[in-house]
Amino acid sequence: MFLRKLIDSPWFYFSLAGIVLIAAVLSQFERVAVDLPAATAEDLASLGERQDLNVVFILIDTLRADRLSAYGYERETTPNMDALAARGIRFEQVESQSSWTKASMASLWLGLLPEHTGVTRFFHGLPKEGTLPAEVFQRAGFRTAGVWRNGWVANNFGFDRGFDLYYRPTPNRQASPVQRHNPSSQRIQGTDLDATQAGAEFLSGVHDDRFFLYLHYMDVHQYTYSDTAPVYGSLFSDIYDSSLHWVDQNVGVVVDQLRADGLLDNTVIVIASDHGEAFFEHEGEGHARNLYWEVQDVPLIIAPPVAIQGGIVVSEPVANIDIWPTVLDLVGLPPLPDAEGQSLMPLILAAAGLGEVPPELKGRALIAQLDRSWGQTAGSSDEIISLRQEPYRFIMSRERPEETELFDHGADPGEQSDLSQVDSEVAAGFAEDVANFLAEPSQDWENPEVEIDEMMRAQLRALGYALPPSDPMEAARRKAEAERVRPGGRWDK
Ligand SMILES: [Zn+2]
Repeated sequence: MFLRKLIDSPWFYFSLAGIVLIAAVLSQFERVAVDLPAATAEDLASLGERQDLNVVFILIDTLRADRLSAYGYERETTPNMDALAARGIRFEQVESQSSWTKASMASLWLGLLPEHTGVTRFFHGLPKEGTLPAEVFQRAGFRTAGVWRNGWVANNFGFDRGFDLYYRPTPNRQASPVQRHNPSSQRIQGTDLDATQAGAEFLSGVHDDRFFLYLHYMDVHQYTYSDTAPVYGSLFSDIYDSSLHWVDQNVGVVVDQLRADGLLDNTVIVIASDHGEAFFEHEGEGHARNLYWEVQDVPLIIAPPVAIQGGIVVSEPVANIDIWPTVLDLVGLPPLPDAEGQSLMPLILAAAGLGEVPPELKGRALIAQLDRSWGQTAGSSDEIISLRQEPYRFIMSRERPEETELFDHGADPGEQSDLSQVDSEVAAGFAEDVANFLAEPSQDWENPEVEIDEMMRAQLRALGYALPPSDPMEAARRKAEAERVRPGGRWDK
């Protein structure tokens, strides 16, 4: 009787699926050796000639590069991503184009700087004129799927263009206890395992079709982890590392699924992030408030469907707008027609000992932008622009150009000493570069203004973002409540 009831219950199947995936998570601790053909730089250069390549793009929201063991962190937070880097390509220095998800993701997908995507405020949608990578894949006959857990990349902002399937996964009941430490008073439901599971289901149905799968993970952003992750401590910074370990386990499940489906030797896996996270390096914790290194330095790992002995490490600084020009080049698909980012293939091959670094990829000025008024419905902009050109980072207010900061990474990797007064000539040179950049004519694209209803606002607030409610009375009530319950020192992201 009980058994019958159990078998009839949908929860039984949800739990069963959860247990199977948790078992998959645990099994990764006994990893098998990489079972891929060994390859040379020449093999990598000719990869695009193959007609069978697929792409899995894993975006780990809010992931700063220095927390991955693959990037030298003392805690072994990312064994699965380390393994991908060890047989693939790791970019040591990667600049995101904003520290706020939507602006950063618009740039990443379109290969354009925020100045040219026009996505700078919370109600801005993607310009319809721009081409997205999923559209390139779809036109080339790929099956395309996007699974996301961050409302800033929801369908209504236009991020679904080119995807056959684009959705937020259903939160499943957990087969394993989950710890949540989101500083926000509201929470999004489920965990990244839901996205992993949705991705695994998509993979099991692709059969012989070529595919592009995008998974947008959120548990690092949400400080969420399962009891399969180590507990490093009780500070937000420690909990962040536990969440990263848990998300890395999810990456391991995706890799294992590809292996089980016989897809590992024809799938390119890309790991990237939209921005980092601050832990009191400058003004507090969180992101989407400034453009210092801790929110700007993100990882980028590209694991081709071959094993490169010892891996390739690219040390030249690159940008998130280069990701799609590079990946489309690697798999032999047409480039994004409007991208400002560049294919990094010459850098990759040069790092592998094949050819020289071309001058146009050397010592580039990498730009990031943030309108600090992004969460406001109306009112003037409060934009800062960061220009990174080794060994410097220069930050300037657009509305108040006299407000500048200059840091020397070489002498001051933590960006603690502002040199804008000391090295005023260097600062003046960068200020001129920024002024010239802003004076460049922009393409005449329009950003649709997206109506955000109360439900959507609630979902975005659940990510910890402070958004004004559409009703002013409700806005006043929430403000009073926030001041009552929120501990000081942490930003409303
Ligand atoms: Zn984000």
